[in-house]
Amino acid sequence: MNTNLANLLYLIPIASFILALRFLSNPAHARRGNQIGAVGMLVAIVVTWIKVGTTSWWAIAVGMLIGGGFGAVAARRVKMTAMPQMVALFNGVGGGAAALIALAEVHRILPEAGSPKLDISTAIALSGLIGAISFSGSMVAFAKLQELIKGRPITYPGQKFVNLALLAACVGLAVTLVSGVQDEWLLWVVVGGGALFGVLFVLPIGGADMPVVISLLNAFTGVAVAISGFELENNVMIVAGALVGASGTLLTLMMGRAMNRSIGNVLFGAFGQVSLQAAAAAETDGGTVRSASAEDVAVMLAYAHKVVFVPGYGLAVAQAQHDVRQLADLLEEKGVDVSYAIHPVAGRMPGHMNVLLAEANVPYPQLKEMDEINPEFSRTDVAVVVGANDVVNPDARNNQGSPIYGMPILNVDQANAVVVLKRSMNPGFAGIENPLFYNPKTVMLFGDAKDSIDKLIADVKSL
Ligand code: NDP
Repeated sequence: MNTNLANLLYLIPIASFILALRFLSNPAHARRGNQIGAVGMLVAIVVTWIKVGTTSWWAIAVGMLIGGGFGAVAARRVKMTAMPQMVALFNGVGGGAAALIALAEVHRILPEAGSPKLDISTAIALSGLIGAISFSGSMVAFAKLQELIKGRPITYPGQKFVNLALLAACVGLAVTLVSGVQDEWLLWVVVGGGALFGVLFVLPIGGADMPVVISLLNAFTGVAVAISGFELENNVMIVAGALVGASGTLLTLMMGRAMNRSIGNVLFGAFGQVSLQAAAAAETDGGTVRSASAEDVAVMLAYAHKVVFVPGYGLAVAQAQHDVRQLADLLEEKGVDVSYAIHPVAGRMPGHMNVLLAEANVPYPQLKEMDEINPEFSRTDVAVVVGANDVVNPDARNNQGSPIYGMPILNVDQANAVVVLKRSMNPGFAGIENPLFYNPKTVMLFGDAKDSIDKLIADVKSL
């Protein structure tokens, strides 16, 4: 296939990827967006396959079978709670592929044409370095989330200096490579140094901050792939890489804003370490914790006018989404007005709650974003907090000494009554006390969220 025809056909995947992003921006169309993106990717692969010609046909087929087979099985088997580490793994191999392309290009060009042109050698050095950082950083993120290594920040004195010095050395070597020392081994050293930097850069970041880091590394992979597109003169790689780079950067910034953390604080703050001191500073006002039985809570819910469910990470752990939907349906049959309050960083990945509730076919109009639901809490009879903690912590609003002070939260404490479903008094991700649990309006329903909801269903039915 000639290059012009291939470029014309590449417009199909390019348009599909842009459309896919558009559709993915709303849970109601997200599945369609995924399908459109997948079709676009299929077209891109087929066109590239035909364009490459017959020489590497079998090699590509075998690679696709192994990669595609692994991807399909992993995607089908992965649990919702393990999604962040799967994204890390897949993102890492994307970065690794970009670094391998750089190595392969140098290997091909040097014997053929002597040294590559300046633009190509710049692209090779950059994609090799950025791709390697993204690969090894993502692998450490995966290992932390999968608990293969400790999730706690791993720090030592002078760490930032060592990291900075290593990065400066890698950049220096990359510049040497571009400025005329065209040596394949030099690129190997740049790629190796980048891989080492990726490991050292992610080690001091706490496991629970990994989704933000993965999103940033995702942006790195996008940039590395776009640059590889220049090396291979492949337009679809340039556009797809740029889209991933831009959306990864925006997502990173949005997650940081929703957690009220600067990206610098996530990357260099070793967040998991400060939280224990902060636990002591929580303003619990010497209140006591009241626990309730499922029967009591069932009565509160069945006779309420307006109930808001507030899902959090515990909903994902308990896999209680179908049960919550069942309870909500039951309450609606009794004439209760039911909605769900969605905090942008509830759970452990962006859109976590939307995906879980979509899986349980919760009607989209019942899902209310934070800005929409917050004014409604003062008119809510019962707010039911299902495994959420930090995203409903009033200290974020009231306690300037709290590490999450300034983080926008769901104002459940403004409801007439609050029921909190969790297993113990253990803190959430930020590791801090939550004064909501000591509020006189609040009752705790202790236990696994799925078990508690199932008891509530049975008790509401019997009323
Ligand atoms: P939290 O992590 O604050 O709290 C979750 C609560 O769920 C815990 O207190 C835990 O208490 C409870 N829980 C766990 N398992 C169960 C279970 N089986 N049944 C009932 N309860 C359970 O979650 P939130 O969703 O409120 O907040 C998310 C946090 O994660 C925020 O701090 C956010 O900044 C952070 N974060 C979010 C990201 C995102 O993209 N969404 C990315 C990175 C961080 P107990 O153990 O007592 O049951």
